[in-house]
Amino acid sequence: MNKFAHYLLFIFSFFLLASSTGLAFSQEIVVYSARKEHLIRPVFELYKKETGVKIKYITDKAPVLLQRIKAEGENTPADLLITVDAGNLWHAANEGVLQPVHSDILTSNIPDHLRDPGNKWFGLSLRARTIVYSTKRVKPDKLSTYEDLSTVDWKGRLVLRTSKKVYNQSLVAMLLKEHGKKKTTEIVKGWVNNFAAPPFSSDTKVMEAIIAGQGDVGIVNTYYYGRLAKKDPNIPIALFWPNQSSSGVHINISGAGVVTASKNKAAAIAFLEWLSTEKAQRIFADVNMEYPVNSNVSINPFVASWGTFKQNQINLKNTGENQAAAIRLMDRVGYK
Ligand code: FE
Repeated sequence: MNKFAHYLLFIFSFFLLASSTGLAFSQEIVVYSARKEHLIRPVFELYKKETGVKIKYITDKAPVLLQRIKAEGENTPADLLITVDAGNLWHAANEGVLQPVHSDILTSNIPDHLRDPGNKWFGLSLRARTIVYSTKRVKPDKLSTYEDLSTVDWKGRLVLRTSKKVYNQSLVAMLLKEHGKKKTTEIVKGWVNNFAAPPFSSDTKVMEAIIAGQGDVGIVNTYYYGRLAKKDPNIPIALFWPNQSSSGVHINISGAGVVTASKNKAAAIAFLEWLSTEKAQRIFADVNMEYPVNSNVSINPFVASWGTFKQNQINLKNTGENQAAAIRLMDRVGYK
């Protein structure tokens, strides 16, 4: 063997050793994310910087990613699924694509109601789905609960997003858990009777309709309000925290679960645990003006300026368990 061949062999052996011991070749995790790239990239980059672990990812809508993981089966490269709405996470777990993870770090950092009792998914950021109203035409002392928006006081004044969006399916699913079918049907029917306009395709359009005077009151996720309020601090709408003397504000999560067929389970769990800790929580919540799930982490000052509220403490698995019933109910009462 000539000198050059020796040299090549040496290099080759070195890389083989390094890769098997994980010294020079950093580990890699694959994430399928229904959260948009600009909301996840900052935490992925920080994790790489802190641990050397590289995160490869694809982004798409939750149902597309779920179908893809199912179609790929045992061969899926996915280690972790990140998505918004507990309804979507529950659905993924129910389809068998997420596996249970037993971790003291996750159970101590994430409150009970924001994670799967079967440990297959965990909330990572919290959003409130609350009432928004026109500060020109509504006195906040006239507002009280989600249920009250079904009364005749709000006839021709309510604007809502379409029932096709999982956010509203989860809201109605939680009402079903709380009130049962009969009362929830009355509530949602009352909303439909009070519509000022047909349902809108987005929360932003709901608020734009209120600003334009098309309606007086609506229900939206807090961060969509935040986006508008950041652009125009004098926006003529405000948030109201309903159900403060009853069930609390309807909340939801973005969250994640370890994929059943993951080849890097330990690395995926380590990353998930890290996401529940202070530094990651702050970024993960702040990029989308959400609330950290870890109560030891302070809320972004802009988000905190919207005020404090009592949140609904019922476990979010109910968004999934009652999802099909919620869709049927909304369809029956003509909520499009
Ligand atoms: Fe959203």
